[in-house]
Amino acid sequence: MTTPLDIAPLWFWASVAGLVGLAFGSFSTVLSWRWPRNESVVHPRSHCSSCERTLTPLELVPVLSWVALRGRCRGCGERVHWRYPAIEVASGALAAGAILSFGATWKGLAAALLGVVLVPVIVIDLEHRLIPDIVVLPAAAVGLALMVAADPGDWWKPLVAALGAAGFMFVLWFLYPAGMGFGDVKLTLLLGAVLGASVVPALFLAFGAGALLGTILLVRHGAGARKMAVPFGPFLAAGALVALWWGPSMIGWYTDRLG
Ligand SMILES: [Zn+2]
Repeated sequence: MTTPLDIAPLWFWASVAGLVGLAFGSFSTVLSWRWPRNESVVHPRSHCSSCERTLTPLELVPVLSWVALRGRCRGCGERVHWRYPAIEVASGALAAGAILSFGATWKGLAAALLGVVLVPVIVIDLEHRLIPDIVVLPAAAVGLALMVAADPGDWWKPLVAALGAAGFMFVLWFLYPAGMGFGDVKLTLLLGAVLGASVVPALFLAFGAGALLGTILLVRHGAGARKMAVPFGPFLAAGALVALWWGPSMIGWYTDRLG
């Protein structure tokens, strides 16, 4: 099938996605600092957290400005944490990789969206044990729309995957609320919408990795491990990223063995 996007090669659209991903990553650095602190993500303008100086447009260029300034504020010389370029690079790479793998298509766009949204979800949940609804819920709605557009004949599949996976997580949360947060339930809506059937291996990987870490903590710290709160969102996000690329082959491997 030819589309208007065929006027340019795939690497071009992947580069565009990479640049948009970098810009989204830049927003994510602001989001992951301010949202958990109940600060507005638009006001005031980005500023140095030690000298409060408002950053100039050139200092807001993702990654490059950090490299050019050797990771220091131009005003006060204070170190700018490497998390800023790391979040930007991860977001850009996931967006470009999604388009390269799934094409300049609705599916590729949905995969890129999932990638760039999971980056701040991981960072914020690790640091604050919170899942940012402010990006997860709109992303779930947009991801669902993109996946329906990708395959309108089977429009119900992403819907069933989103509601089924989130329903499963809701039951677990309802039965054992200490095990995860309600944010994890909402995050699963996004995962199901974009991953479709691959949300099953994503959850399998997340619970497997979570149980493994729980066991390691229990062995190393004994009964004290019960008091160590480990956020589950990063496990869900990591499981989703693995399943985004390898979910279909994992499902194939499993069904082959069932005969
Ligand atoms: Zn400064």
